[in-house]
Amino acid sequence: MNGFPDLRADFPILETGVHFLDSGASSQKPVPVLEAMDRFARTSYANVHRGAYKLSVAATEAYEAARQRVARFLNADPDEVIFTRGATTSLNMVAFGWGMQHLGPGDRILTTVMEHHANLVPWQMVARRTGATLDHVPITADGRFDLDAYREKLDERVKVVAFTGMSNALGTIPVTPLIASLAHEVDARVVVDGAQLVPHRGVDVKTLGADFLAFSSHKMLGPTGIGVLWGRMDALEEMEPFEGGGEMIADVTLHDATWAPIPHRFEAGTPSIIEAVGLHAAIDYLDSIGMDRIFAHDRHLTAIALERLADVPGVRIHGPRDLEDRGGVISITMDGTHAHDLATILDEHGVAVRAGHHCAKPLMRELGVAATARVSFYVYNTEEDIDALVSGLRKAGELFGVG
Ligand code: PLP
Repeated sequence: MNGFPDLRADFPILETGVHFLDSGASSQKPVPVLEAMDRFARTSYANVHRGAYKLSVAATEAYEAARQRVARFLNADPDEVIFTRGATTSLNMVAFGWGMQHLGPGDRILTTVMEHHANLVPWQMVARRTGATLDHVPITADGRFDLDAYREKLDERVKVVAFTGMSNALGTIPVTPLIASLAHEVDARVVVDGAQLVPHRGVDVKTLGADFLAFSSHKMLGPTGIGVLWGRMDALEEMEPFEGGGEMIADVTLHDATWAPIPHRFEAGTPSIIEAVGLHAAIDYLDSIGMDRIFAHDRHLTAIALERLADVPGVRIHGPRDLEDRGGVISITMDGTHAHDLATILDEHGVAVRAGHHCAKPLMRELGVAATARVSFYVYNTEEDIDALVSGLRKAGELFGVG
């Protein structure tokens, strides 16, 4: 090992013996997260921001403490942290809440060809409704954000640049501060889909350069059902609520309503309260390891896997083959074999990988494949998981007569 602690005992599900290489889809949960949610539900649960009774006050404090914890994790102001259902909701909130207010005919939205559908389809919908046009930054031959093409596409008609902080299919990490500063030169707003980035690499919103950042708790050791939209206050102030309902108003008459201050304005209805406590515990857990070490661990495993995969007959790696600006996600195909069959054979060898288009169908078309098998690492993975992967792939190759 690389000096990284062996954390497997913290993750009960790993007792099943699975080599879990699908954290890009959703991560496993450590005992401290499970216990924090259980304890809170047993002792302190009630709805938040409503009751004057002690339990509701305790629940509200726990919920707001989670917001403060997220803010500290991102080096943000707590008022800039909005709890959502997940990255998808966060991105829709920006597309509809901001886009419907500020986009019109003649305006341009710039995304990339490697976006997850969550950062593409909402912009398609908003473009259709506002008359704005949607354009896409291509990727280079090795699967990186094409900066030259981006520079050519940027002009003062571009009002928003929305791109992934780390590709869920290729592992590519675009250089956000540079992309953002170029966007700001033409006064465009910058939206970063941080669903893969935030769980794996320390993010400081003061230096990231983004105006909005979206991510999900379930990919960072926390529960499903909660995520975050962070926005710079001046950007959030430009946004209209996407949902109306309880808790987000200052006053309501039969025909009108005024909004509560930010962030509550954007949190209509009962939020995910137990899940906020779980996210808080997940961030404590991640920070106790250290985000720099987590990123280094992902990259250590990625370096080994890239080298070993290159030796497996018939295996093709899609995306960057070196460690420059990339994280712990590797997409592969095997000649003459469908990715789903590959994943099924790997599963028979106890190795869980994702097969499919990874909610990035336009990217699959760019790559000229229908699907890939995707390997993704996290804190509980070890070199043994790579051994199991490589041996499973060799067996699959023999079975399919590859090489
Ligand atoms: N963006 C990226 C890059 C993702 O990988 C994912 C999930 O796979 C999402 C957005 C959507 O996240 P969620 O399904 O948690 O809303």
